[in-house]
Amino acid sequence: MDRVFNFSAGPAVLPEPVLRQAAAEMLDWHGSGMSVMEMSHRGKEFIEIHAQAEADLRELMDIPKNYKVLFLQGGASAQFAVVPMNLLRGKTQADYISTGQWSKKAITDAKKFCKVNIAASAEAASFSHVPKQADWKLDPGAAYVHVTTNETIGGVEYHWIPDTGDVPLVADMSSHILSRPMDVSRYGLIYAGAQKNIGPAGVTIVIVREDLLGQALPVTPTVFDYKIQADNDSMSNTPATYGIYVAGLVFAWLKNLGGLGAMETTNQAKAGLLYDYLDQTEFYHSPVAKDDRSLMNIPFTLRNADLDKAFLKEAEAAGLTQLKGHRSVGGMRASIYNAMPIAGVQALVEFMRGFERNHG
Ligand code: PMP
Repeated sequence: MDRVFNFSAGPAVLPEPVLRQAAAEMLDWHGSGMSVMEMSHRGKEFIEIHAQAEADLRELMDIPKNYKVLFLQGGASAQFAVVPMNLLRGKTQADYISTGQWSKKAITDAKKFCKVNIAASAEAASFSHVPKQADWKLDPGAAYVHVTTNETIGGVEYHWIPDTGDVPLVADMSSHILSRPMDVSRYGLIYAGAQKNIGPAGVTIVIVREDLLGQALPVTPTVFDYKIQADNDSMSNTPATYGIYVAGLVFAWLKNLGGLGAMETTNQAKAGLLYDYLDQTEFYHSPVAKDDRSLMNIPFTLRNADLDKAFLKEAEAAGLTQLKGHRSVGGMRASIYNAMPIAGVQALVEFMRGFERNHG
């Protein structure tokens, strides 16, 4: 069996030990005689799997007791609407910071529920940086401030936490959750789709401060009412059981590696390898401001775009897959999530050097 180095933005590479364990437990989970897929979500086996996954996530992220952890469905995209449904709490407007394609999508759906104030935008600079907080025009009457802390397409990441005073800070952390320690207590709500650093597509994690619950708009569907889901351990309806199980294996894998501090050190080393190379060559180019570069998603272009096709073809032949940039921006993108081993980034940089030698 040959595994490639998979640089996909998501669904993305998962840790090999996790996949092996899931395979070993596929037909018979811990002597239950069943696959996790076949278990009742209300049975004692699955309740144990779910509780352990939540406990491990709380430990990894050091989630304070006054926060609920929900395992929902619908992807991060559902949260673009579910956040305003739940968090307006009698207010009629919310602040959004626009840093890329994912912020824009969040804004589009929020507009269906409230007045959106774009307090800062990097669109005029082709989303190549995070606007400095000093330039934000926050509205004190906003129900919350929404940020996309890692823009998966543009490769722009917040390396600081905005200060929004008493107004709750809401973050879409889909593409960098668990990549490093995050101070959860600074946020009112964090959400993330699973298919990058958490597990298979189908699970969406919401971490929300308890005092924000219980004031959902009357139109809110039951499965999207945070309070109802929190009161029912995310089982107001059937949760994505198998996805929660695999997420739990990923959390255990992370704990085993030494937690998020250790993961951050590895992620910095991985991203450093690629950025250092991009910065010392004229052949390739990174479009993102140095201070705001993502550790997870690294877009780059070839100065001569005529070579794009050859680059992708030769990379594929070298076992380096899914390097094509998002269709909206072109070029290349290497997503190097937690599960991408450093050997994968070394192989990529080696390949890029060779390609430069041959075509430069
Ligand atoms: N937000 C961000 C930052 C993302 O990267 C993505 C998916 N790539 C989404 C939201 C949407 O996720 P989903 O397709 O699971 O709804």
